[in-house]
Amino acid sequence: MGSYARIGFALKDSIIFVEIILTMKFATKAIHAGVHPDPSTGAIMTPIYQTSTYVQDGVGNHKGYEYSRTLNPTRHALEKNIAAIENGKHGACFGSGLAAIDCVIKMLNPGDEIISTNDLYGGSYRIFNTIFAKYGLVFHFVDMQNPDAVDALVNENTKLIWVETPTNPMMNIIDIAAMSQIAKKAGALLCVDNTFATPYLQNPLDLGADMVMHSVTKYLGGHSDVVMGALVCNDDNLASEMYRIQNSSGAVTAPMDSFLVLRGIKTLHLRMQRHCENGEKIAKFLLTHPKVDKVYWPGFETHPNHEVAKKQMRGFGGMISFTLKGNQLQDALDLVKKVSIFALAESLGGVESLIGHPATMTHASIPKEVRELSGVVDSLIRLSVGIEDVDDLINDLDNALQ
Ligand SMILES: *Cc1c(COP(=O)(O)O)cnc(C)c1O
Repeated sequence: MGSYARIGFALKDSIIFVEIILTMKFATKAIHAGVHPDPSTGAIMTPIYQTSTYVQDGVGNHKGYEYSRTLNPTRHALEKNIAAIENGKHGACFGSGLAAIDCVIKMLNPGDEIISTNDLYGGSYRIFNTIFAKYGLVFHFVDMQNPDAVDALVNENTKLIWVETPTNPMMNIIDIAAMSQIAKKAGALLCVDNTFATPYLQNPLDLGADMVMHSVTKYLGGHSDVVMGALVCNDDNLASEMYRIQNSSGAVTAPMDSFLVLRGIKTLHLRMQRHCENGEKIAKFLLTHPKVDKVYWPGFETHPNHEVAKKQMRGFGGMISFTLKGNQLQDALDLVKKVSIFALAESLGGVESLIGHPATMTHASIPKEVRELSGVVDSLIRLSVGIEDVDDLINDLDNALQ
């Protein structure tokens, strides 16, 4: 029901949209793109259209909305807003980041092959390997810092290259433009999970990607109060497929959550500036600390992919991983318990600082041998640096490291 109307509606909208993308700068788009005062009341904030259906004047005579799985006005405003800040024409929002990934993989057919990075977000690895592999899709996991290694896996069945950069939790940087060349040569789609960088720091579509995926749960929402996913693309046919699957599988997001994220994105640029500033100071503090062994943060000139990061990102973000001297599991477990401002929790990208232990938390679903190959060792600790006062954050870490 309704999916064709949704596509037509979205495509008509996209014409106005390209103008917005071309004329507005990031901060203006974050606040204004996709939203306009409510025509019936003048309310400046997009109302929470908490409705499942829409009354029609006559059969087929509606205002663009028929049923809220297909399209809901609050979600629609958010979809346009996220598309605009990613410099894309079409956006779709889902019930979680994984539901957005689910949509992309459902564009493929049995026998198709997917090349993905080997230090992938644990949940992405799990949906690929434990849900989709049994439907005959073939997944390859490779160190994508080396484009030749990706090229070597390409064959006529390669239909999708799945990139996550910076990677989680090792903060490796993958060259999106180089991946785009490989994908184009192979006739495959390139999809980039842009959750860690956010559209404020990196726009994969501008670097040649076909699709961008977000766990909106993280920086876009930004306040640790919503679970949501999003996809953005430019190609009209790809968008039709995306909306068809969104409507057919039905993993859509709710009006209230859409409202919260619209509100969150209005300060994305301000939050990201502070995440970047705090991240840099904390990365530098950790680097000189006698208890700390390695610090993984793409802003360091010594980071193996610093040059690629400088080329494709406008800043280095607030995600940092580090290991402890001696690499003892217990030392890491003690540290994450001793901090008092940093909260021990999964997730990232909120205003508050979080600390996590990938080997037992986010990456527990990846076998030990597999995760250690990519650097997720027992003493690895991951920080999502928030926007609190950085001196307090540094003191907190310093005390916990004693
Ligand atoms: C959290 C996360 C996901 C999954 O998103 P959910 O909203 O939790 O479903 C995917 N990729 C990355 C990089 C993430 O951090």
